[in-house]
Amino acid sequence: MNEKLEKLLEVGIAFHGHRCPAMPLGLRCGLKAMEILNVERAQDKELFVISETGKGHAAGCFLDGIMTATGCTYGKSNIEKRYWNKMAFTLVDTKTDRAVRISLKPGFFEKMLQSPFVQQRKKGVPPQDVDPQLLKPLLDNVLNLDLTQALDVSEVFTLQREKTKGCFDTVACAQCGELVFENAARIKDGKPVCQGCFGGHAHS
Ligand SMILES: [Zn+2]
Ligand SMILES: [Zn+2]
Repeated sequence: MNEKLEKLLEVGIAFHGHRCPAMPLGLRCGLKAMEILNVERAQDKELFVISETGKGHAAGCFLDGIMTATGCTYGKSNIEKRYWNKMAFTLVDTKTDRAVRISLKPGFFEKMLQSPFVQQRKKGVPPQDVDPQLLKPLLDNVLNLDLTQALDVSEVFTLQREKTKGCFDTVACAQCGELVFENAARIKDGKPVCQGCFGGHAHS
């Protein structure tokens, strides 16, 4: 394992919360996509990720690895989830609109889903309680995996996305008094309100 991957793995585990095979696989896939586009980790919005993963399915941890590697995060809004529940994503270089899509080869992913880790998870064992001795070889396997055997990688293609400008101005909601960025305020009875008050939902 090279130094860069080792460091990212540490960051990834701290961020993700537990050790599992899917997060480090996401790390490696994110790095692979960056290598193909010849780009560095996003400091701001230099990169954009469109993830086809979703929620409520195995191996969703994959996306936390992609986020860690690419620097595409929900806070920076340079990521979007399609909720297709597929193990695939597209990385876009926003400066040049060059993009690459990576997906797990079906045979590889099927095998991964039969791993002892997933079996434990199916039985309801939380990931952090899976026996480390069982996990270690699976992790090592992901970290040393020959990616050409595991991934389908597209040609580099052009993907133009609409660029949105950041909003810096706020307005006070006429109903709750909280500040809302102008670009998301609504008008109710002629006054600006936040969407929580506009829809009549209680703030939670
Ligand atoms: Zn995980
Ligand atoms: Zn409000």
